[in-house]
Amino acid sequence: MFLSLKSAPGWLDILICHQCKAKLLSPSEYELLCSKCGLTFPLRNNIPVMIPVPKDSPQRQLFGKETSELAPWFERRDEIDTYHRGKRDAAWCARLFIRDDEFLSASSHPQGEKTFFVEIGPGPIPRLTWFEATIRVGIDALAEHYDSAFGDPPCPINFLSAHTEAIPLANESVDALLCVNALDHVGNMSLTLSELWRILKPNGLFFLGVLYDSSPLSCEEPHVVDREFLEKELYPNFIVEREALDSISKEEPPLGWYRVRLRKGTAPAYIHRFTPTQHARIDEFFHHFTEGMFLDTQGRSPEARESFQKALRYPGYYASDRYRLAYCAWRVAETAPALAQAVERTRERHLKHVLLEAAYKIGSSHKRQGACDKSLALFSNLLELAKPLGFKQLCGGAHFHMGEMYLRKGEKEKANNHFRKTLASIPDHQKAKLYLKN
Ligand SMILES: [Zn+2]
Repeated sequence: MFLSLKSAPGWLDILICHQCKAKLLSPSEYELLCSKCGLTFPLRNNIPVMIPVPKDSPQRQLFGKETSELAPWFERRDEIDTYHRGKRDAAWCARLFIRDDEFLSASSHPQGEKTFFVEIGPGPIPRLTWFEATIRVGIDALAEHYDSAFGDPPCPINFLSAHTEAIPLANESVDALLCVNALDHVGNMSLTLSELWRILKPNGLFFLGVLYDSSPLSCEEPHVVDREFLEKELYPNFIVEREALDSISKEEPPLGWYRVRLRKGTAPAYIHRFTPTQHARIDEFFHHFTEGMFLDTQGRSPEARESFQKALRYPGYYASDRYRLAYCAWRVAETAPALAQAVERTRERHLKHVLLEAAYKIGSSHKRQGACDKSLALFSNLLELAKPLGFKQLCGGAHFHMGEMYLRKGEKEKANNHFRKTLASIPDHQKAKLYLKN
């Protein structure tokens, strides 16, 4: 079970609406209410769910990252249970980045009458439980799902379900941040780093740990957080109080656990310098894709479409990118040159098919909604791209839809022409045969 809001008095005072940055009210035990814009946020298992995109929206389903991040935790249910029952042994602690007494020593922690500690991306095993503070909150986009992974043991911290790109916490409200092996999981690194900087109090501490193991980038871990990253992105903005590396190999650059303790100086403001193309070996596709998704959540549709178009210049490399690729295509397919460019740039044949399939689906949905001209334009554009590639089913299907639409318009000659072409691609298309007979 998670702690309830009531068990941490003062926590609600720090929460803000991610949309208008106003304070939140607590009208009932089931939801929070923005005092300015009236947006409501549900409370599930005592967790404020403040993800800008609703759970059941096609955006989040297609996003797919949530599912792939969540699955391993459910497989590790027993381990998680052991963790919460306090039976952790030395090996466990080592694995969990705690081989460092100073890291944990209370003397290095911010002191005060009321201290607020936040762990970013703790998963269901928050290390924050080993720190002392008045309020301890784990921020994790998947928090609302962890209850079923926990089992019975109580977890003595609060949780908040939110994205690190838009943290619903007031400026300079946090005394210490803890982030263990989570920073490389975020979607948009620039936004995340600025947000972390924003919520941290002047003089506040940032404990960062990351396992750098040179594993290939994936949608779950789209960033490389290594020594080079720390030097470029974090060290110029913080005072580096402690840095350690537990090497696990002698390779160059070294592989292992990086642990750093950073302090936010009183000045200057966060230097926004994250430039993924030059620096991190980031998956460009994923970077632009998540940017598009984020802009969408803010209602900035034209900018989002631009990001999706950019993403399509770097077709993904992972099986799970299939859905994301389809989503991008779905967003740009109405612009003929954008679709053509995407198909051209995509090297793999099956991914080209994914793109055209997405366009096909939009064409069909326009047809269903009676938008014949839009649908015809899309299908004829699709045919130009699908024909040279020999995608017979797609071509046959497109011709058939076009035939039916010309029938609707009363242009029988054109319709029959398309039905004949349908049969050229799909010889046993019964409905096309039937139309031609009549
Ligand atoms: Zn609001």
